[in-house]
Parts: sequence; C-alpha cells; structure tokens
Amino acid sequence: MRPFSYERPDDLASAVQAGSQQGAYFIAGGTNLLDLMKVDVERPRHLVDVSRLPLREMEETPGGGLRIGALVSNADLATNEHVRRRYPMLALALLNGASAQLRNQATTAGNLLQRTRCSYFYDVSKPCNKRAPGSGCSALEGYNRMHAVLGGSDACIAVHPSDMAVAMTALRAEVEVQGAEGATRKLAVSELHRLPGTTPERDTTLLPGDLITGVVLPPPPAGRQTYRKVRDRASYAFALVSVAAVLDTVDGRVREARLALGGVAHKPWQAADAEAMMAGVVPDKDAFEAAGAIAMKDAAAGKHNRFKVELSRRTIVSTLGELAGTGG
Ligand SMILES: Cc1cc2nc3c(=O)[nH]c(=O)nc-3n(C[C@H](O)[C@H](O)[C@H](O)COP(=O)(O)OP(=O)(O)OC[C@H]3O[C@@H](n4cnc5c(N)ncnc54)[C@H](O)[C@@H]3O)c2cc1C
Ligand code: SF4
Repeated sequence: MRPFSYERPDDLASAVQAGSQQGAYFIAGGTNLLDLMKVDVERPRHLVDVSRLPLREMEETPGGGLRIGALVSNADLATNEHVRRRYPMLALALLNGASAQLRNQATTAGNLLQRTRCSYFYDVSKPCNKRAPGSGCSALEGYNRMHAVLGGSDACIAVHPSDMAVAMTALRAEVEVQGAEGATRKLAVSELHRLPGTTPERDTTLLPGDLITGVVLPPPPAGRQTYRKVRDRASYAFALVSVAAVLDTVDGRVREARLALGGVAHKPWQAADAEAMMAGVVPDKDAFEAAGAIAMKDAAAGKHNRFKVELSRRTIVSTLGELAGTGG
C-alpha cells in the first residue's frame, strides 16, 4: 500500500471540503475501496472517513416514499420492516449480494459507487482503460465471460456489480448529492452511472468532491415486484444476469411493467423499450417473450459471454411469469 493521510470529519460541511482536495477519496464501509488500495488499483493521497456523519437515518417522506441515509448499512436496509413490506425487490436484491458480514459493513452510498469486478481492472500487470486510460482493454480479446452485452464500447465492456442499484433503478429512486461547493442536488439513480464510451475511467456522472448524502425512494409502484439473480454459486457471487421487475395488471391487461437488468452493462440497464411495449398487453407468455426479445435486441456479445443474451431473455420471461402467476 502507498502512504496516505486520514481524517474523520463529524459534519457534512467539513467532509465535502476535505473531499474536494486533490487526491482525496471518501471512505464509508471500506469493503471495496480498501481491497482496491491493497492491489494498488486505487491510490488515494487522503482518505476522508465519512462513517461518523449523521447519515444513518431512514425516514418516510411526506409523499409516502422512503429516504435512506447514505450510511445506512446494506443489512439494516434489507431487514427494515418498511422496505421488506413495501419494496420487497430492494430487500431481495440486497440479501442476494455479498455475505452477512459484508452487508453489515457496506453502506448504501458505497454500494452504489463500488467499482467493477472485471478481473483485468484488478490486475495492474494488464492493460485496462478504466484503470489506466489509453492502455487498452484486455477483456475485449481476453476472457470476457462476465462482461457486458449491452451498451459496451471499444474501450470497455465492464459491468456494474451492484444488485441494489438495479432494484433502485426499477423503483425510480433518486440520489441526493452535496457538491464540493456546498450546493445540494438530486439525480435519478438511472443517471448516476454512465456507459463507458471513450472514457471508461469515469463510472458515474458525479463531479470530483461530490458526497452522496442519501437515496429517496418514491412511493412503491402498484402491482407485484421482485428481484431475481442468476449466478454461478447460490451465494457470495456477482450476477451473471439479474432482473428487477414490476408488473401491475388491471382487468386482464398490463397497466405498467418495469424492467431493470444487472450483470449486462456498465450501468444498471433500464429496458425502456420492453417496458413501453408491455403497456396495455395481455400478460401472457407471448407478451413476456416479446418483452425479453425487445430488451435484448441490441445485445452484442464477445467470445465467452454469448450465453448472457439468451440467459437474460429467459430470466425476463420467467420473472414476469412469476409476477403474473403464470409460472416462472
Ligand atoms: C467478496 C465480496 C462479494 C461481494 N458480492 C456482492 C454482490 O454479490 N452484490 C453486490 O451488489 N455487491 C457485492 N459486493 C460489494 C459490496 O456490496 C460493496 O463492497 C459495498 O457495498 C461497498 O460499500 P462500502 O460502504 O464498503 O464502500 P467503500 O468501499 O467505503 O466505498 C466504495 C466507493 O464509494 C465511495 N463512497 C463511499 N461513500 C460515499 C459517499 N457517501 N459519497 C460519495 N462517495 C462515497 C468511496 O470513495 C469508494 O469509491 C461484494 C464485495 C465483496 C468484497
Ligand atoms: S472491460 Fe473495462 S475494466 Fe475490464 S479490462 Fe476492459 S477497460 Fe478494463
């Protein structure tokens, strides 16, 4: 590890000021950042420990939603009675991630901002445009079984690893941010992460020094919701493919369907065309097959991840079937 300085501010103003210094990183649970420092991928000159900031509260909003403080642990969020009852897909996504110990330590903001698990990103002996811009992408011609099939570029085909972010995308959550200059703003969680394009070193649309202070969930959508994760092992594994889905039906027709996919792109992938196609249709197998086909119509696979295209399509069909009660 390289030398770095450390401070632990008690208030937001001091934290954002400290975080705006050149080479400063915020650290919350440390479960991702410390691993990356140990393998010399992240090289902070100054660590700003935000774990003592007053951001651990969860509170219902006046409109019937839920505000989640940035430091609420993944375990507390997953087991919160309100979340389990009204946002079950979020609880499922969290409980399908990492391990019990990690979920106790990991925070809401840290989970959103965790970095890709692309093995070449972690291996400093290999070219990687995300870690060393301009060095090349080892995954394009390398072993790319875990990589993106949607929204990738010639510069990077990494996927975003967070399960929670996929559920939050389907729930249309908003992220609260306090900027380095002190102003606060909100952005849709679907606008937090970005596609790699020619600048894969940037995972998100945040600006240097931005501190995430919380996430706001709107009131839960009508209908049934779930999160399904397909992975190599039953626990302690990142998604090959995951689907967060909402299905609301009235009088035998779909009033609203929501679909967000994980494990397939550089960001949680909102399958907007498939959502639009589903509105007003009879919720049967043919409709779900059509939604799966539309969601994956622009997929582009590499040598080892072609299976993800069919796996995603089938997971969409069976997840919607489960929500419709027609099998899954
Ligand atoms: C073995 C293992 C298995 C895992 N499996 C899964 C899995 O299956 N699914 C899954 O979703 N995740 C999984 N994870 C990832 C885990 O969920 C993340 O490591 C964790 O959520 C990160 O939270 P943290 O608070 O520890 O973040 P930290 O490591 O503290 O920070 C992560 C990043 O967020 C930034 N940051 C933290 N807080 C803020 C803030 N308030 N504002 C701005 N920036 C901030 C930091 O600067 C850093 O860049 C796994 C991790 C491990 C080690
Ligand atoms: S896919 Fe992205 S993170 Fe992985 S090696 Fe290529 S540039 Fe690096």
